[in-house]
Amino acid sequence: MKHPIESFRDHFKDVVEEVQRFAVFVRAKEFQEQSIVKLEELLAECSQAKDKAIAEQSEDTANAYLAFEFMAKALVEEFRFYLALKADAPDSAWDHLVNAESSSAAAMKSHAVASHLDGYIQRLHALERLLFPQPVFFSSGFIVRESECSICGVEYGECTHVKGRPYMGKLCARIVKKAELQEVSVVSDPADKHCRALHYTDNGITRNVFTQRAVPDEDAEQSPPAYPEGRADAPSGSAEA
Ligand SMILES: [Zn+2]
Repeated sequence: MKHPIESFRDHFKDVVEEVQRFAVFVRAKEFQEQSIVKLEELLAECSQAKDKAIAEQSEDTANAYLAFEFMAKALVEEFRFYLALKADAPDSAWDHLVNAESSSAAAMKSHAVASHLDGYIQRLHALERLLFPQPVFFSSGFIVRESECSICGVEYGECTHVKGRPYMGKLCARIVKKAELQEVSVVSDPADKHCRALHYTDNGITRNVFTQRAVPDEDAEQSPPAYPEGRADAPSGSAEA
């Protein structure tokens, strides 16, 4: 008899193969929207199976389903990226592409069932380089005064959990509770690609860095970027995984 994980992997592969032919920019919008619906159903199946494994205290199985969840999320984000580009919303497209990259990386950290994603991640990086101008990224340097482990809640470093490693269906993150900001610097290879300059000013006119459209003054305030639900590594400055 097949191990339940192997049967689930076959089912996962079937759904992914069915939708992957629409994961190309030129495919019709409605097929890409339908693909998101199918992937969200798959995601719900992953979460249910993961919860069952957690209830049975089967850690390796729970971590495998966590990896499937992250892979399904990455694909959903990739489809949302194409749809945002088609909707002339490059800021949102950027966030979805970065979310797809981080979900794929999180899947690889979660379990060996996702060990084949290097090529997929390279493809996402290629899309990033070809479709967007190199953004100006920010990175904040801070001294952590108080932080806790996301798995057990004790002071980070006092337990045996290590950030970025999976434990019973969850990736460990260091949740920063208190920190002193030291500096904000401009970097080319940031820990968090959501932290970037959104606007620039030229001859007194504030413009969007991607579209170069003038933005009204009230919109020129930097707004917080969109993060995927359930992302294991929260925005920089609050948690690290
Ligand atoms: Zn811990």
